[in-house]
Amino acid sequence: MITPSDNPLRSLEEWDDDVLRRYPESSSQPGDQKDVDDFRVYDDETPQHVQDFYRANHRNQTVEFNRQQRDKYLELNQRRMSIWEAMDFLNTLVDESDPDTDLTQIQHLLQTSEAIRADGHPRWFILTGLVHDLGKILCLFGEPQWAVTGDTYPVGCAFSDSIVYPEFFLDNPDQADPRYASRCGIYEQGGGLQQVMLSWGHDEYLYHVVKEYLPAPGLAMIRYHSFYPWHHDGAYRHLMNEQDHQMLEWVKRFNPYDLYSKSDVPPDVDQLRPYYQELISEFFPQTISW
Ligand code: FE
Ligand code: FE
Repeated sequence: MITPSDNPLRSLEEWDDDVLRRYPESSSQPGDQKDVDDFRVYDDETPQHVQDFYRANHRNQTVEFNRQQRDKYLELNQRRMSIWEAMDFLNTLVDESDPDTDLTQIQHLLQTSEAIRADGHPRWFILTGLVHDLGKILCLFGEPQWAVTGDTYPVGCAFSDSIVYPEFFLDNPDQADPRYASRCGIYEQGGGLQQVMLSWGHDEYLYHVVKEYLPAPGLAMIRYHSFYPWHHDGAYRHLMNEQDHQMLEWVKRFNPYDLYSKSDVPPDVDQLRPYYQELISEFFPQTISW
């Protein structure tokens, strides 16, 4: 049963808005010297319900929960759907009660992919932008917000201080489990992120849905796009292997399109649809397993 404390956000985009507040566009400019105090001030300004969201996330994302969700979802036996059907399905998630939400899920996906397209990137990159958040359909399967969205981070080893609100991990039982408390925990130093269980959410789920169909850099963008402590703050380098260092560059290339591609005019879904249907059919079969 989902309780209000499982879903403190008014809408899923509220977490994305919060990431944008944490990492404003100017802070990603080369040579920017954002001072640490600015981030401290930010913490006090975070609305209570957004803090409640992080609190629920950090308390409940354990190794055991992760294994349960993998067992439940990674057989991909929820349903068969085309990519466009999943976009339409995700679009039913719009929360009418949030007056600040002016973009539908489809529009966020299309703005991201259109910005990538406008910069002349390869077709697989554009398609990655189009699909990157489709894992949020987990919400429509009844999952609470804290198990769908939010920053991701490894479970099964020590939580990094660079994760937003690290103090909330005091409520996570894994924190006191000697198996998971060390820097590498259950993982091998330099063994690669492939071996690492990231906190469960829309990134990991969608990676498994599309892993047969997109090239490795696109898969890394999907799987790690919410892993801010890693791609933005430089944490967890000790778990990476050589391949991860290459993929990190791609994930960093993708991130600004996800965060900063809000255009003044919302994309015209009907007008763009033929182009994207063709792009989808170049990489995906008619329907895939979700
Ligand atoms: Fe996302
Ligand atoms: Fe996104």
